Amino acid sequence: MKNNKRISKLLERDCGQCTSCCRDIQVDITDTDLKRLVKHTGITADRLVRLYGHNKDDNDAESDWFNLSYGKRAIVLNKKRNGDCIFLGQDNGCIAYEARPMTCRIFPICVLYDDCHNIVDVEKSDVITNKTITCKCSPGKGQLYDVFLSTAMQARKEHVRFINKIDTWNRQNKKGNKNDFLRFLGFIISGDAPT
Ligand code: SF4
Ligand code: SF4
Repeated sequence: MKNNKRISKLLERDCGQCTSCCRDIQVDITDTDLKRLVKHTGITADRLVRLYGHNKDDNDAESDWFNLSYGKRAIVLNKKRNGDCIFLGQDNGCIAYEARPMTCRIFPICVLYDDCHNIVDVEKSDVITNKTITCKCSPGKGQLYDVFLSTAMQARKEHVRFINKIDTWNRQNKKGNKNDFLRFLGFIISGDAPT
């Protein structure tokens, strides 16, 4: 993908710190994101994530859904009771910034890939274009093109590894509950004896 004026314009924007993306949307994560967060925080995986159910309006690809005994689910970062991300600090900063999920590193950009996992285009995240949130990013220094591409490629790799694991779970027809799925991914759950 060649840089061009439109892409530069998208990347050269600075966050307005409005925190809407840390409050008002679901943050998709992979098992690699979760591993980083468990290591960084020392909190067990089951406390860091929650599941949400499949409904016809979801835009997630079929490959993101795993079958549990109570239906199809996808995994997202947990929220506080008030709906904020569990890592949104009192000063409105991210308290897990160094280990934040790839989705947060790329936001507010959405990256489009082809079937060979090459980046073909970038555009504004659909939660902004469909007005789920109003992002207060404004023209500024933004992100370096090459750094952004390398993050986006890493995100894709991690996502592909995750959906392969989901596929294995689904093909083995394992079902079970949230904790069974997390154990399948290799996580220790609160209350489990360390191995
Ligand atoms: S919604 Fe946009 S301006 Fe607000 S915190 Fe997120 S990236 Fe920054
Ligand atoms: S992990 Fe950090 S950056 Fe991502 S939504 Fe939560 S508070 Fe915001």
